[in-house]
Amino acid sequence: MIDVLVSGAAGRMGGEVVRAVTAADGMRVVAAVDPNAAGGVVNDGAGATIVVMGDLTAAIAQTVPHVMVDFTHPTAVEGNVRTALAAGVHCVVGTTGVSLALLQALSTENPGPCLFMAPNFAIGAVLLMRFAGQAAHYMPHVEIIELHHDRKADAPSGTAILTAAIIAGARREVPAAPGRETEIAEGARGALVDGVSVHSIRLPGLVAHQEVIFGGVGQTLTLRHDSIDRTSFMPGVVLAVRAVGEHAGFIMGLDAFMED
Ligand code: NAP
Repeated sequence: MIDVLVSGAAGRMGGEVVRAVTAADGMRVVAAVDPNAAGGVVNDGAGATIVVMGDLTAAIAQTVPHVMVDFTHPTAVEGNVRTALAAGVHCVVGTTGVSLALLQALSTENPGPCLFMAPNFAIGAVLLMRFAGQAAHYMPHVEIIELHHDRKADAPSGTAILTAAIIAGARREVPAAPGRETEIAEGARGALVDGVSVHSIRLPGLVAHQEVIFGGVGQTLTLRHDSIDRTSFMPGVVLAVRAVGEHAGFIMGLDAFMED
């Protein structure tokens, strides 16, 4: 049985993680942590409620989890991960907007337990990134449009940043991003990430969506993924919770566990 602590349990993703872990075989939620919601309850989806705790260090000492799953806020990750790793707890981080260099440094401080981070746990999004790398090899002219709900804390999305990095690593030439010098309104041509133009859209009603558009002579190719519900991320989270205890050090991206 894998004992799981959910950090950010009162949030949108954290609540889904509580229910997904509860429903999965071979794992259970032993603690739900969310400082501003301490004393409240989270529904576990199986007819019970879990009381939310406010202090991560105390929750770890009291419940001795094997794995912490963190879906919180970019500013909370450093403290949470440092605390968990120091206590020998493996970490599965889904919070985006955190620098990979920081995560790598935290893992170097405490290399025993595994620190796993995925900017996107949806299998379809992981496949989109793979396909984008394949296409970029042959079609180097490409732009990314990412679309998320209006309360997202970071822009561009972690998925868009990783997609741009994969494209940058795969394409054989880096074409100029045209049109920047002709912008009439600042930002019209998007942000440049690893040489790829990225456009971020924030609207109520959206969950998490990404389009990667390739252009060639007389043709375009569009790859699109839509998470229309947060349950889309849960099979990936459960997969990571199962796999993380078998590894050590810092690992990035769900690809690493998809063949496990
Ligand atoms: P959310 O609804 O705002 O939930 C975050 C929760 O974490 C809130 O309840 C927040 O409390 C709490 N929190 C803040 N600081 C904390 C701390 N130090 N310890 C424990 N809990 C803390 O946000 P969300 O929509 O669930 O998204 C959470 C993160 O997941 C974001 O970074 C988002 O981009 C990311 N995300 C990743 C994926 C993926 O596949 N990797 C998918 C979707 C979302 P307060 O409200 O009181 O601050």
